[in-house]
Amino acid sequence: MEETMSNPSGSIHRIEFPCSVLKRIEDHVRTCYPEEACGVLLGYDANGGLITVTEFLPIKNTADQPLHAFTLHPAEWTSVVLTRPDLVGLFHSHPHTPPEPSAKDLAELEAFGSLLRIYAIGTPFRVSDGFRLKLATYEVTMPDHSGSIGHLNDNAGPAAPSPAHCRAQRYHLQPVPYASLK
Ligand SMILES: [Zn+2]
Repeated sequence: MEETMSNPSGSIHRIEFPCSVLKRIEDHVRTCYPEEACGVLLGYDANGGLITVTEFLPIKNTADQPLHAFTLHPAEWTSVVLTRPDLVGLFHSHPHTPPEPSAKDLAELEAFGSLLRIYAIGTPFRVSDGFRLKLATYEVTMPDHSGSIGHLNDNAGPAAPSPAHCRAQRYHLQPVPYASLK
């Protein structure tokens, strides 16, 4: 079965990118290589759990070690937040590792609050006629804290939940398929 209904906290089942936007992302990753590239995804939330990305806006990576990290240029990022109500997500590249969120990526999600609906990571690879991008797309979810915490306390018995042990709600990335539009 498809996982359409299996993620109660998720609401997005597909992300669509025009070819031109994918090309622009790919070009930016190539330009920045071997450093990490980053930027924002603009678009809209259509009916039925579909996010349509309409534009990719590169943002300068100001990380101290851009080969292995990304930091959005603060002024460019702030400008996007203030002027683009169509901000839907974040993209960055993993030039040397698979397009899976790192522990750091997950830890930093919280800093974006509810600004991000989707998250995309791209890993470049060489092909005979040049260069392609393996893209992985995710929904940014903030699960109820009633779920996933229990397993952290194996052997602790059915201790009553105490506020001190209720960690802040954590943002997660739930894989969501994407489609490329002509
Ligand atoms: Zn990353």
